Amino acid sequence: MNVLIVYAHPEPKSLNGALKDFAVRRLEAAGHAVQVSDLYAMKWKALVDAGDVVGGPAGDRFDPVGDSRRAYANDLQSADIVREQDKLRWADTVIFQFPMWWFSMPAIMKGWVERVYAFGFGYGVGEHSDVRWGDRYGEGTLAGKRAMLVVTAGGWASHYGPRGVNGAIDDLLFPIQHGILYYPGFDVLPPLVVYRAERMDDARFSAVRDEFGERLDTLAQTAPIPFRSQNGGDYDIPAMTLKADVAPGLSGFAAHLDVADA
Ligand SMILES: Cc1cc2nc3c(=O)[nH]c(=O)nc-3n(C[C@H](O)[C@H](O)[C@H](O)COP(=O)(O)OP(=O)(O)OC[C@H]3O[C@@H](n4cnc5c(N)ncnc54)[C@H](O)[C@@H]3O)c2cc1C
Repeated sequence: MNVLIVYAHPEPKSLNGALKDFAVRRLEAAGHAVQVSDLYAMKWKALVDAGDVVGGPAGDRFDPVGDSRRAYANDLQSADIVREQDKLRWADTVIFQFPMWWFSMPAIMKGWVERVYAFGFGYGVGEHSDVRWGDRYGEGTLAGKRAMLVVTAGGWASHYGPRGVNGAIDDLLFPIQHGILYYPGFDVLPPLVVYRAERMDDARFSAVRDEFGERLDTLAQTAPIPFRSQNGGDYDIPAMTLKADVAPGLSGFAAHLDVADA
């Protein structure tokens, strides 16, 4: 299969750099085609601005939504955005690899999402009406593809446990896994999180590499996180709220998991 690794770390000799190189080798040895978007090496422009539209804004002010829509529809997007969208179309599976910085992805990767997920590509897809709120959350441009997060974190696993002080890792990653990956259609595989990443010796590195290798070997077989489909009947439209008889009594992120299907 075709695998795209979207990768953010400023230092090639970092732990993340070593894990990314390992992933490329492992995937290629298994016969997969691999492309890497190494955002720091590419000097990826992280800021959404008027320069994203060839010829500039349509009106007398830059409209991030409206100009994105017009640029996507009329082939006026800047070349770096088009290249990344083409890589996403090419990929069967996309791995997003990054160190957790301030409880999320590094800014350069967030900027990749903001620019590459154009109106008509990442959002604003499908019919928007009183009876349908677009193709999203399980449907959309990237439906049928798989995605997985590979995250290193300085904190301990217990700090990210169900009652850990940092908040549960599934909750912290929900905006990325549900909001950035599931929204445009990806099936989202459970993340690989390397805790206490700054305390790494050769023995631990070897164990982490083995675990990562196993996850890479099973990318096509691993069951995705069972997020509920927006248009599968669980939500009232257009309120986009879970129906009263779905996950009764539950609210928050966990309510959007269809655990009966897990
Ligand atoms: C701005 C910022 C914000 C942060 N916010 C958070 C946060 O919100 N939550 C949190 O938990 N953490 C946070 N951290 C910590 C951060 O997540 C870790 O520093 C990061 O995940 C470590 O990954 P790295 O690739 O940078 O590791 P590196 O620093 O490159 O390496 C980590 C360890 O791995 C070893 N190592 C590297 N390469 C190899 C190799 N090839 N073989 C064997 N060992 C190797 C190194 O010697 C070192 O001991 C933050 C850090 C920064 C800078």
